[in-house]
Amino acid sequence: MKHIEAVIFDWAGTTVDYGCFAPLKGFIDAFASKGVKITPAEARGPMGVLKIDHIRALAAIPHIKAELEQNLGHAVTDDDINELYNVFESTLLENLVAYSTVNPYVTETVDALRSQGICIGSTSAYTRAMMDRITSHVAKQGYVPDCCVCADEVSRGRPYPYMMWKNMSELDIADPRHVVKVGDTVSDIREGVSADAWTVGVVMGSSELGLNEDEVREISSEELLALKKKTFERFCEAGADYVIDDMRELPGIIGQINDQLREMEPHKLLTPGPLTTRRSVKLAQLADHCTWDDSYKKLTVGIMNDITKICADTDEYATVLLQGSGSYAVEAMIQTFCRDDEKLLIVENGAYGKRMIKQAEMAGKKYTVLSFDMCTAIDPKAVQKKLDEEPDIKTVMLVHSETTSGLINPLKEIAGIAKAAGKTVLVDTMSSFAAYETDLKAFGIDALASSANKCLEGLPVLAFVVATKKLLEGESCSKSLCLDLCDQYRYLYPDGKFRFTSPTTVLLALRRALDLYKLEGGLEARKARYQANHDALTEGMRRLGITSIVPEKWQSYIITTFDLGDISFADMYARLKADGFVIYPGKLTDKNTFRIGTIGDLYPKDYERLCKCLEEYLNSGK
Ligand SMILES: *Cc1c(COP(=O)(O)O)cnc(C)c1O
Repeated sequence: MKHIEAVIFDWAGTTVDYGCFAPLKGFIDAFASKGVKITPAEARGPMGVLKIDHIRALAAIPHIKAELEQNLGHAVTDDDINELYNVFESTLLENLVAYSTVNPYVTETVDALRSQGICIGSTSAYTRAMMDRITSHVAKQGYVPDCCVCADEVSRGRPYPYMMWKNMSELDIADPRHVVKVGDTVSDIREGVSADAWTVGVVMGSSELGLNEDEVREISSEELLALKKKTFERFCEAGADYVIDDMRELPGIIGQINDQLREMEPHKLLTPGPLTTRRSVKLAQLADHCTWDDSYKKLTVGIMNDITKICADTDEYATVLLQGSGSYAVEAMIQTFCRDDEKLLIVENGAYGKRMIKQAEMAGKKYTVLSFDMCTAIDPKAVQKKLDEEPDIKTVMLVHSETTSGLINPLKEIAGIAKAAGKTVLVDTMSSFAAYETDLKAFGIDALASSANKCLEGLPVLAFVVATKKLLEGESCSKSLCLDLCDQYRYLYPDGKFRFTSPTTVLLALRRALDLYKLEGGLEARKARYQANHDALTEGMRRLGITSIVPEKWQSYIITTFDLGDISFADMYARLKADGFVIYPGKLTDKNTFRIGTIGDLYPKDYERLCKCLEEYLNSGK
């Protein structure tokens, strides 16, 4: 189970030395020794970094630099920095013990965290020599972290993550997402961010707030609120995940993070979309991207061309991306390409075909239906017969891979018949695109609809239609603005501008998914992997005595429906979810079934393990 394993605290200003005053006097004294007056606010600016770097940063502030140079009579040298540092260090060492009181609520919070099995690490901008002055005083007050790394014990201090890494190594924690960094300065937060840990800024007692406990009591509540607000902003700007008033809030924050980690547990989704995706596909989303600049438009055009090339040539055909789930693209085809007064034939054998009927009905299109049983493939001869009987049919629509049952319809034959009869052919290839051949020209298809989150193994919610340019450049029949593919096409071509807000992060992920598709070896490789998944699944299920419903000759390698018998779906679902698998309920109306998808970033080994887990579950019930 994923959960927070360590909290790594900063020292001065966070767990000891309320307001972080010990170093402050050192910096002021150091510069005073060269006749330069610096303000407490200036002295605090770089707080949290290794102290010699802190001196360097102060000496680089323009007015301080100018005064120093004037008083020294030359440009500031390393020797001058070292002299400043020596004054700083001697003042600090004198002051350290006086400022080593443990801050309010620290020991109680540490106890509460430890009682949850959480380790306590620590990092400091102090050197080991400085730290050695205070640890025994702090220990007497009841605060002893399990690990302490000082800035001079790593090659670089904050904001570099090396002190965090040394803590993690000593505490034997491998995943930085199981670590929380708590600190009182901007450089603390940056250290946590660069380590990829969770970060929490503490406001009260912080160097950022810069007040001692008396000052906190004395200033007006308005003033305090304004200072706290500024501190909050500084932490957020540095990338803090959370900002708390004081340590009492920390256990609650850790509870929230644990909830989030639990939600982020990797599950193998054995569903027909959204699917299990590659890590780099998900990571591609970690960027805020605007929609109008050239690089984004280029990305859009590149994606559309790559999609088109999977099933057609880019001279005659084009892809139109459409914001929304797959059904939006199917409905957009109906809206855009079917005239109200011309008859549409919907050939259906499942829930997705039935959805088309509803979409045609609501769009006010004239339509007729040819239905088959959910476990029977569409018969091309019956389609031929229907077209012969009703010559006023102008358009034929069907679903290629009926995800309801897991059946694959003979698309090539049906489309061929319809095309030969001069009809417009529109196909829902939602769950077959990029895994089955869907060659538009060879098959005689005018337009197909699919989405990013099926066999392309991208993320939801982004759909697309690949159609002949003749249709896209022709007159639109759409009575919906959002679903008008011709209008969308006019914006997207030639330079990739989305009509309305585009799903930027999903598009970035789709770019990565398409690259992976090519890398894997395209259609043939994906076909082979899904087929191998399907074979491993059916073989394992056969051994468990669980039978599939759809006759083998019509069974796809996309998703498979199994007979549940008297097994409880809810029980089985919960048990398999605990094992890291998410299965899918059945959708057949007349039988107790469940479905297992074999698409996504999944491999035969996953199905072998699934069947083993299922076997254990079945045995445990007997
Ligand atoms: C997934 C799917 C759809 C689209 O469903 P949405 O929930 O709108 O994404 C349509 N048809 C088939 C065959 C599908 O598998």
